[in-house]
Amino acid sequence: MVSDSGGGIGDGRRGAAKTRKRIVIAGGGFAGVECARQLESKLGDDPDIDLVMINEDNFLLFTPMLPQVVSGMIETRHIVTPIRTICKRTRFFEGKVRGIDPYAKTITVWGGGGAGRLTIHYDFAVVALGSEANFFGMPDVERNAFTMKTLNDAAELRNRVIDMLERAENEADPALRMRLLNFVVVGAGFAGIETAGELMDLLHDARKHYRSVGKDDVRVVILEALQEILPGFNKDLAAFAKRRMEERGIEFRLQSAVRAFDGEEITVRRLAGDGNGGGRGRGPGGEDGNGGGDDDDEVIMSKTLIWTAGVTPVDMIKRAMLKTQKGKVIVDDYLEVPGFPGVFAVGDCALFVDPNTGRPVPPTAQLAEAQGKTAAKNLVALIRNHEKERFEFRSRGQMAVIGKRSAIASVFGMNMSGFWAWLIWRSVYLSKISSGEKKIRVLLDWVIDLFFSRDISRLKLARRDAEKDYRVLDEVDDMW
Ligand SMILES: Cc1cc2nc3c(=O)[nH]c(=O)nc-3n(C[C@H](O)[C@H](O)[C@H](O)COP(=O)(O)OP(=O)(O)OC[C@H]3O[C@@H](n4cnc5c(N)ncnc54)[C@H](O)[C@@H]3O)c2cc1C
Repeated sequence: MVSDSGGGIGDGRRGAAKTRKRIVIAGGGFAGVECARQLESKLGDDPDIDLVMINEDNFLLFTPMLPQVVSGMIETRHIVTPIRTICKRTRFFEGKVRGIDPYAKTITVWGGGGAGRLTIHYDFAVVALGSEANFFGMPDVERNAFTMKTLNDAAELRNRVIDMLERAENEADPALRMRLLNFVVVGAGFAGIETAGELMDLLHDARKHYRSVGKDDVRVVILEALQEILPGFNKDLAAFAKRRMEERGIEFRLQSAVRAFDGEEITVRRLAGDGNGGGRGRGPGGEDGNGGGDDDDEVIMSKTLIWTAGVTPVDMIKRAMLKTQKGKVIVDDYLEVPGFPGVFAVGDCALFVDPNTGRPVPPTAQLAEAQGKTAAKNLVALIRNHEKERFEFRSRGQMAVIGKRSAIASVFGMNMSGFWAWLIWRSVYLSKISSGEKKIRVLLDWVIDLFFSRDISRLKLARRDAEKDYRVLDEVDDMW
């Protein structure tokens, strides 16, 4: 039992003056942190405002550099910044949001490290809980695939790749060896393309330490259900990315949807047309296709499938009493949740329909930050009885790294590809890291990478098992 000593954030308004308003931000990603930052700067040290943030991890993860953690180019902790160091006037609570009750104006949280349950009252709330991998109802894929969403995911994937090389080095059975050295990335969006590019870099660099693993033994295959890669990107740039990646040995299978994965074999359904140019019915290791039993199914032998094929808002949103569509919280032009004044939803978990196109805006870090900013402005407007501002989004451009010092970029109407685009990617994203110290660390990592080959130490990490924790904690009803 942890007590709430006056200034505590535990249940209700105990210890809080009646005039004091509490703003609770649920989620400390791009949207949540930007919102807190803006609120801190706009509300200053206003004693009547109590600003609280709840996040599962105590850091902000810079996702665009996650694939570079997989390849070992950047050290794991260099792409995260502790939220306490960014939002110094916000009270931070490390814990998992388990429920949002907009009628009672409360948020239920499970504290990390066995802290137990906590109910936090709010006057205003910002829901910024982001998204998680969407497996489209395929439990076997969910069980066996690797994902690319968290720092843990990146560390696990890196270990997996090194593990596969270690095992393949001493494996005499050619079929098993092939399975170990085939890596399949599902999804040719941002995350998939960047992960595949970095994965190939890691494999080519690391395999030099494995005498029996030749250049042609390692394979990276990208599976994509659509006919194109990087949807939404300039078509010429996307074509450049595909060409350049193919030259480096990455295989593309377009119009190919995963149907099953048991940890050894991936069953892939070829959709209409033949958009990939690859041999129909042959796996990446030359194995016999059509092993799945269905004429349109192909089997790819691989022990490692990396799932980046889609995201869905975190499961918790479905349990919150907020109106959703396809799992996302519906918001109005001001990013406020209809029916619940003072409750905002921003970032990947919010469904904002662009009034210009009539379509939902694609989820990106850029959008999340812009929404966090507008939500902060509108919260201040509500508190000070000012007019709220409509959310308008103008994309500043798009960029993706495709591996080996090459990228594609579409900024301020200019399209670039190759080395210069890669340099621009680096400068832009380096400038976006929240902390000066982390900027220097990442820069040093990049410089070091120019002179030394990748580290192939495989760290032993325990897999996080959150559900088990909760089952034990469910019995507890402590108040923080
Ligand atoms: C590998 C990868 C590469 C990407 N590259 C780019 C890129 O180059 N450019 C770009 O614009 N976008 C990129 N994105 C997309 C971008 O990361 C997201 O659109 C962005 O992070 C969304 O911000 P958000 O604040 O809505 O969610 P998030 O950043 O995901 O933040 C949500 C936060 O909520 C926390 N959370 C979730 N559930 C709970 C809970 N129940 N309780 C407590 N806390 C919880 C999470 O831990 C997280 O900290 C990339 C994404 C990935 C995965």
